[in-house]
Amino acid sequence: MTATVSLPTIPDPGTTPPVVQPTVFDLSPDILGDWLKARGHPAMRARQIRRWVHTGRATTFAEMSDLPAGLRTELTESFSVFRMSIERHLIATDDTHKLLLKTHDGHFIECVLIQEDDRHTACISTQVGCGMGCVFCASGLNGVERNLTVGELLEQLVRLRNLTPTDRRLTHIVVMGMGEPLANLENLLEALAIAGEKNGLGIGARHVTISTVGLPAKIRKLAEHGKQYHLAVSLHAPNDVLRNEIVPTNEKTGMHEILAAADYFFETTGRQVTYEYVVLGQLNDQPQHAKQLVGLLRGRKAHVNLIPWNDVTGLPFHRPDDSDLTGFIETLRHSGISVKVRKRKGSDIDAACGQLRRAVTNDK
Ligand code: SAH
Repeated sequence: MTATVSLPTIPDPGTTPPVVQPTVFDLSPDILGDWLKARGHPAMRARQIRRWVHTGRATTFAEMSDLPAGLRTELTESFSVFRMSIERHLIATDDTHKLLLKTHDGHFIECVLIQEDDRHTACISTQVGCGMGCVFCASGLNGVERNLTVGELLEQLVRLRNLTPTDRRLTHIVVMGMGEPLANLENLLEALAIAGEKNGLGIGARHVTISTVGLPAKIRKLAEHGKQYHLAVSLHAPNDVLRNEIVPTNEKTGMHEILAAADYFFETTGRQVTYEYVVLGQLNDQPQHAKQLVGLLRGRKAHVNLIPWNDVTGLPFHRPDDSDLTGFIETLRHSGISVKVRKRKGSDIDAACGQLRRAVTNDK
């Protein structure tokens, strides 16, 4: 006979939607100022509140010691400082930190802090998942759910800033996490403008790199935005036939349009474009690929960033052989093309985009 054990009923957290309060990051200074005025507080408190959050590392209103106690209570009742929760916080041996954040509507996103000497770089996500479907990438395996809000973009930056040593701050931003940044351009530009404020995070446009699969119209729009952001285009192949295979969205756009838009970006902003090239063993790293790439980029003031593929469990690709990679680099260098291999950071914590989220969602 088997004994029947009665288990306690655990409420399903999905049945009662959490109360979602707007965060300080969701409010423009004007809206926060109006809210304060309506309650009889001076509008300049908005600046104090933002300073506490952006540079003061406050995570609750209670900590904002130069605000009147009554206001701190009112703020706590109406807003929260952060809206996402930290589901995982991993620290690699090279001091790379990775956060897996859970959004208020139950999605997971990743962001990473990469630290090297005086450089503290935040790598942020722009979407839940990704709709671009690059065949080697973990982020897009289940498509895209939604764009991240301005608040969610800023929250990643502030949470990462709070992980730097207390006498430091973020120095750089790379928009190279999950998602296609140019598919969420409006929110991204708004968040980056706030991140650039001198009294806030203070990260100037020249210290920001936006990486795109290559959406020509959006690249042109970014060029015309007039800020000195650095553009990185994920090329990954030296001809349309191979790129269609690796980056399926290429079938619609074609490389010619992308390169023309990138040229326009350079002409308009004066900023040299970086071409990213994920190196997939045997697939796009052979001598003929290097030669074709030289042909494509010759005459363009371009820099190439080679990224040896980071393994994604279950995908049928390989990292390149050392000799193939060296040959590839030599061919580019001999033709006068500036090229670097991206250093692997945080490899012991799955720092490449989308991998941790995938591991966690697959567990559930
Ligand atoms: N959607 C943007 C940002 C993606 S992440 C874009 O396409 O550029 C930044 C870079 O990492 C892109 O070049 C992307 O193709 C690359 N990448 C994604 N997964 C990778 C992996 N497993 N190994 C190496 N590079 C990867």
